Amino acid sequence: MGPVRWTLLIAGLAAAAVFAGSQIFRVQISEAMFERAVKKNIGRNTAASLGDGLHIYVCGAGSPFPDPMRGGPCLAIVAGEEHVMIDAGSGGVRTLTRMGYPVGKLDAVLLTHLHSDHMDGLGELLMQAWVNGGRKVPMPVHGPAGVEEVVSGFNAAYRIDGTYRTGHHGPAIAPPEGRGGAPIPIAVPAGPGGQTVVYDAGGLTITAYKVSHAPVEPAFGYRADFKGRSVSISGDSIYDPNLVAASSGADLLFHDALNPEMVAHMRDAMAEAGRDDLAKVLNDILDYHATPADAARAAQDAGVSRLVLYHTVPPLPSRALNALFTKETKALFDGPIEVAEDGLIYSLPAGTQDITVKKAF
Ligand SMILES: [Zn+2]
Ligand SMILES: [Zn+2]
Repeated sequence: MGPVRWTLLIAGLAAAAVFAGSQIFRVQISEAMFERAVKKNIGRNTAASLGDGLHIYVCGAGSPFPDPMRGGPCLAIVAGEEHVMIDAGSGGVRTLTRMGYPVGKLDAVLLTHLHSDHMDGLGELLMQAWVNGGRKVPMPVHGPAGVEEVVSGFNAAYRIDGTYRTGHHGPAIAPPEGRGGAPIPIAVPAGPGGQTVVYDAGGLTITAYKVSHAPVEPAFGYRADFKGRSVSISGDSIYDPNLVAASSGADLLFHDALNPEMVAHMRDAMAEAGRDDLAKVLNDILDYHATPADAARAAQDAGVSRLVLYHTVPPLPSRALNALFTKETKALFDGPIEVAEDGLIYSLPAGTQDITVKKAF
């Protein structure tokens, strides 16, 4: 046998030995992996090391469509001691927990509007924040008129579950008086420029402004300001001069975006597949979301530093699709444009102009 064959034989035997070893010790290997994961993730609080500034966790960058990289609409703010969540799309609280966000410290939830995809994770969020935080008072849930009905519905749906949890874990962990949400309807003055401060604590100010998402009325965007840094969040809107005015000079703009060519392509495929009902839904949604180009124009007109597209439609299961999604935007905005995905933390350190982004998982 020549030296090459000997080498191959030895390499083959070594690989077989490693494979056999991994089979014999697979329980031990599995146990070591599990212990490492527990050590790394249990009690992890990524917010504690972020530093002074305004930080935004992307806990849901998607829409009602299933997207492996994006859950339902959900952003969560950390600013000093303040913790505020904007929209509670399904999967949001699980993603936040995976990101190491201190869900038990949440001070309030703000809903942009009452479309189901923006609040279908609210029941799970209220339960998790309650049990993880030992809340003594229900979570304030701000939103447009009608939020009372939505929150009381979730409170009713989770009432029986609450009795089990208090009975099982005890009132110190799950105090009955702290369960669920307390709705706070927001009134924004009608007409152009209408704004209302809805949150003002610990140096964090959040202002609600009206956006255009007809027939949903009213629908809000929110602007958060903390120590000279700012982020504006559109919720669901077409290009809106009021959003542009309220977002003026913000460091960061999160804007919803729907690519009409891609959605029209899906609509035609639905029609060809004989699904006329879904084809109609896809056709209807074309008129009440901004296109990526509209979002870029809004960012340019507002003079923001950076644009993040979220609530992206259609689903973008691969980053390779982002180029097609943002094809029409390049000449319209001077700053960077990116497509959000779950797990990102945007940080705006106080006293700087910096914007950094990192992935929490
Ligand atoms: Zn909507
Ligand atoms: Zn939506």
